[in-house]
Amino acid sequence: MPTLTSIKKRPASRHLGRPTPELIFGDLWEFDPAPETADPRLKARYDLFIGGKFVAPSSGKYFDSINPANETKLAEIAHANAADVDAAYAAAKKAFDTTWGKMPGRERAKYLYRLARLLQDRAREFAVAETLDGGKPIKESRDFDVPMAAAHFFYHAGWADKLDYVAPGRSVAPLGVVGQVIPWNFPLLMLAWKIAPALAMGNTVVLKPAETTSVTALKFAELIQDAGLPPGVVNFVTGFGDTGAAVMGHPTAAKVAFTGSTEVGKIIMRSLAGTDKKMTMELGGKAANIVFDDAPIDQAVEGIINGIFFNQGHVCCAGSRLLVHEPIAERFLAKLKTRIKTLRVGDPIDKNTDIGAINSKEQLATITRLVGVGVKEGAVMFQPACKLPAKGYYFRPTVFSGVSMSHRVAREEIFGPVLSVLTFRTLDEAVEKANNTAYGLSAGVWTDKGSRILKMSTELKAGVVWANTYNKFDPTSPFGGYKESGFGREGGRQGLLDYCKLV
Ligand code: NAP
Ligand code: MG
Repeated sequence: MPTLTSIKKRPASRHLGRPTPELIFGDLWEFDPAPETADPRLKARYDLFIGGKFVAPSSGKYFDSINPANETKLAEIAHANAADVDAAYAAAKKAFDTTWGKMPGRERAKYLYRLARLLQDRAREFAVAETLDGGKPIKESRDFDVPMAAAHFFYHAGWADKLDYVAPGRSVAPLGVVGQVIPWNFPLLMLAWKIAPALAMGNTVVLKPAETTSVTALKFAELIQDAGLPPGVVNFVTGFGDTGAAVMGHPTAAKVAFTGSTEVGKIIMRSLAGTDKKMTMELGGKAANIVFDDAPIDQAVEGIINGIFFNQGHVCCAGSRLLVHEPIAERFLAKLKTRIKTLRVGDPIDKNTDIGAINSKEQLATITRLVGVGVKEGAVMFQPACKLPAKGYYFRPTVFSGVSMSHRVAREEIFGPVLSVLTFRTLDEAVEKANNTAYGLSAGVWTDKGSRILKMSTELKAGVVWANTYNKFDPTSPFGGYKESGFGREGGRQGLLDYCKLV
């Protein structure tokens, strides 16, 4: 229950002795702690998952996965070397040749449905594990990550017996073994985006999660065992960049799928040039969220907040640039700041938390450095005066105004809760500024005019354009980038096409 301590401290309003809305929303109400208490059922140590079994790494080495909310050790994770990656590919190849690759789609579908339902059954436990390992607020892992991951398995289970309709007039066949590497911002959801279409199509998988967030993949391995998937259909090798490079470069991989930074994506592409591996790359972004003067202002403020502060801004398609129409710029910014002051930053396991912990010490250092660059370059910084927990990795929601396109905060992906605000006068100027980036993953448009939405969605060079909303996802919608945001699509029929050959 909220207590009104902070309101009591304020002077009485001129109006009927009640606090004005400005006073109420200008400050935080004190909430009692409301931690989620479900048991995440974690093991103290996780081995590699190869051939349907948990196996110790051949090096005998383990590293710690940390809870970024309080810097405590959560579990030990195995470090896979090249020999372990070899073993994982051998298991995947065997499964492809002997069971999974030959199985009728309608049979594969049963396993995918089973995985989706098992994940739903243990949803609360997975949400808590995701939050403890990665730092995202429990209300996001509970209401978004886990249900959306289950939805991807359901959706692709539905495709598995209808693959004749993926490419009308053509037949499709699986590629073989696919190697997949994923980042730390949506660990379980990225795993679902990668595994579900690959399996539906009849491929087998070797996947490496990010080093700071391997726990939910390894818990998912338990579901794979419970679902009775043939051994080797899915294999998880945990570790650092060296493990990732071994997964991407392995000769057995018929296709590699990578989600992560543009920098590492380029390294992988260079290393695979000249091979016949198929590739999809889901890389970085620097999206513009564009607000016209006829937009529903309060809705747009919420959309901008959701676009950049969702998951601490650890979102490739985050609306990290706000382009606001000049006539409303001042009013819009004032409303935005008032709303930001009410965001709760703190313990991610608390159900009231809006902004949780930054995923790692390294990422916190990167955000801090780039924000310092913004200040040095002369942008005007706003941060609310909220208190941060004494331990753990936290960063206040930050807004830079007075930004121009030459500022680094307007060009570089910060991957944190940092918004850069620019203004525009005409539609053409908005398009020009939005497209003036090396990336092209997503964009948002806020306006009352349908014709303007259609025009903007044609002109904006971005894989997704949201209109009067932001960060909405659905397994049926393909997701992917233009330019340095990558190539290939995940989700929908298009996503399946990236996991098959046409015969
Ligand atoms: P990252 O540093 O590129 O790492 C991504 C993954 O690649 C991690 O598993 C990482 O392992 C591994 N890796 C590192 N070096 C490698 C190498 N040489 N060869 C193969 N794998 C290697 O990215 P991140 O910092 O984890 O994630 C943030 C980035 O991902 C952002 O740029 C974001 O925009 C992007 N992202 C894009 C999408 C999309 O759909 N377009 C979605 C989510 C995130 P370690 O963890 O052990 O370093
Ligand atoms: Mg962790």
